[in-house]
Amino acid sequence: MNIMEQILDAEFGCRKCGKTVLSKQYKFSRFCPDCGTLLHSLKFWIFQFNPTVYRWYDWIKKNRESEQWLTSQHAKEIRKGDRVVIWASGEKAGIYALGEVLENPSKRALSPKQQKYWIKREDIHKFEEKKSVIIKYLKLMIDKPILEDVCRKDHILKTMEILKQPQGTNFLLTKEQWKRILKLTR
Ligand SMILES: [Zn+2]
Repeated sequence: MNIMEQILDAEFGCRKCGKTVLSKQYKFSRFCPDCGTLLHSLKFWIFQFNPTVYRWYDWIKKNRESEQWLTSQHAKEIRKGDRVVIWASGEKAGIYALGEVLENPSKRALSPKQQKYWIKREDIHKFEEKKSVIIKYLKLMIDKPILEDVCRKDHILKTMEILKQPQGTNFLLTKEQWKRILKLTR
């Protein structure tokens, strides 16, 4: 298993230093191997963009490392270290990237660099009203997305909240759904 796969497979994290560990390490010790803090279960999320509102594909081609995302829903539960699946709505709906939350949600203006990718300019102000996070990308699947119809046919992914009630930006994902997505990307 390479380092990136180990990071993606981690199920527990340290709130103090940000270290993440695999479940077999957690079974061995419930404390952070680096700083001794009690580890917690990571949470998993889907963040959705609408390509007619935000030019995500153009952004990601030039800025592959990280991106600011609104936390319009679940801002109290989304925490540093949590894992995020990026979902596009529209004609080619599906999963396009996997990432990690770099810090807890807070109110901050949208970075000027990112502003020009918003087609609906009035949405930029949402960043002043609502909390947002920075996502660091761990895996991009722009050329090989997991499309919506594959998810709908999958016995685990068909239960994803986003497929039942697709309104919103932030959706909870179960650990089982996250692990299934990882499996389909390998
Ligand atoms: Zn630690």
